[in-house]
Amino acid sequence: MSIAENVARIKQEIAKAAIAVGRNPEDILLCAATKMNGADAVREAIRAGVDCCGENRVQELTSKQSQNAYAGAPVHFIGHLQTNKVKQVVGKVALIQSVDSLRLLEAINKEAAKQGIVQDILLEVNVAKEESKSGFALEEMESVLSQMGRFPAIRVLGFMAIPPICQNSTENHKFFQKMYNLSVDIMRKKYDNVYVNILSMGMSGDYADAVACGSTMIRVGTAIFGARDYS
Ligand SMILES: *Cc1c(COP(=O)(O)O)cnc(C)c1O
Repeated sequence: MSIAENVARIKQEIAKAAIAVGRNPEDILLCAATKMNGADAVREAIRAGVDCCGENRVQELTSKQSQNAYAGAPVHFIGHLQTNKVKQVVGKVALIQSVDSLRLLEAINKEAAKQGIVQDILLEVNVAKEESKSGFALEEMESVLSQMGRFPAIRVLGFMAIPPICQNSTENHKFFQKMYNLSVDIMRKKYDNVYVNILSMGMSGDYADAVACGSTMIRVGTAIFGARDYS
């Protein structure tokens, strides 16, 4: 299957999952998770109609940007970002999806202010409290959001989560539902610099479940580009 065929099939499956629960398929964006795929593959995915690209590593982001790989689509940062690398990411991506600590918020705010811009971000939630994953705890969210007034050079557009791979849809739905409840809850409240309208969840193995539970952005790598070559 070519990248274009994969993107077309995924879009059909997004539509099917959305319509089944009475959602408009246009409310769900497809973000191509492009890690370990080269500039040509990225260009092909953009030509095939993905809405944005998500990059995990600063070095790959910088390298593909220098090759003009993302022309025609916004690029997001979706990997763990170290505070000493914010300079290479702030102002260079449309959205940082993976903001996982107050320290990182402080560093992003400082760099964005220095550049005279406002950086859009998502807050990453470690929804299943996994040791191996970063992100805020669900219980911390209210406290974090109430502090966003301290960061005038940051705008929070929503939440991102990477729930564990589950055995079945029922298990999956539990975590996705928690994230959906969080975003609905926060939308009803008012916090400075917070404008929640993105809920980024769902990957190759579980995006239909995520769409059923209210995801507005799925991040798909393997199902678009094939298995990654780690050799
Ligand atoms: C790699 C990655 C994805 C996509 O994973 P696939 O299973 O290949 O679709 C999504 N989100 C993040 C943060 C990733 O690192």
